[in-house]
Amino acid sequence: MVEIVFLGSGGGRFITITQFRPTGGFFINSSKRIYVDPGPGALVRAWRYKVDPRKIDVLFVSHRHTDHCNDAEIMVEGMTVGVTKKRGTLIASKSVVYGDENHTPAVSKYHLDSLEEVHIPNPGERIQLGEDEMTITPTVHSDPTAIGFILKTRLGKIGYIPDTEYFEELKKIYDGVRLLIASVTRPTNMKIPYHLCTEDVIYMLKDMKQKPEMLIMSHIGMKMHFANPYKEAKFIENVTGVKTLVAKEGFKVKMEKTDIKLRTLRPAREL
Ligand SMILES: [Zn+2]
Repeated sequence: MVEIVFLGSGGGRFITITQFRPTGGFFINSSKRIYVDPGPGALVRAWRYKVDPRKIDVLFVSHRHTDHCNDAEIMVEGMTVGVTKKRGTLIASKSVVYGDENHTPAVSKYHLDSLEEVHIPNPGERIQLGEDEMTITPTVHSDPTAIGFILKTRLGKIGYIPDTEYFEELKKIYDGVRLLIASVTRPTNMKIPYHLCTEDVIYMLKDMKQKPEMLIMSHIGMKMHFANPYKEAKFIENVTGVKTLVAKEGFKVKMEKTDIKLRTLRPAREL
């Protein structure tokens, strides 16, 4: 079984502070239980959809921007059952672990020491996660150490494009993934540096030899939110032929041998 549960679809400062779209990241249940980019509210959103932080095996944090890493430490506390058990793996950018000239580390020494493994990989590195293999992918972002991944599962590859601007290698790197989750911050004609917009995604998909079966747009910024991301998704789908959806809190994607199924979960409890 390979399942993905989305705990949000928002990104960027203004969507994050208003919570017009939740910013909890997403969770992959495959050979290992992997939580990706725990932005503000991740802990609360996770519990709403029965994702128990005490059962997370791997925490992946793409970079040291608050909308991606705010809840990282509390997720580590979940993974280590309140720092009483040495368990879990953190895979994170250099900026998350060491900080940079503008940011302190997002995970303290106390939390790092509680984990069983900490990986601070470079693009191209491979990490075995149970039966799955994660390959780290590069970005061009205002946090220059930001990383994405391709997770090779027994049911195909899942690609995650975190915050990045378009660069030529993107289409080669993600060629052949079955499911692609991409941070598409801006709509058509509203390009900004260091982020993808609708045209970038179309350009990338059109040139792929083996296009993904499905694209899920996430990290919806304020301008994309008000431009109607569903219309943008339809536009991408019409031009490229790739089924394109907009992430949503409670969205559950199930990868099966022959197809990818979707449903929307109801919150298990109110928080
Ligand atoms: Zn960012």
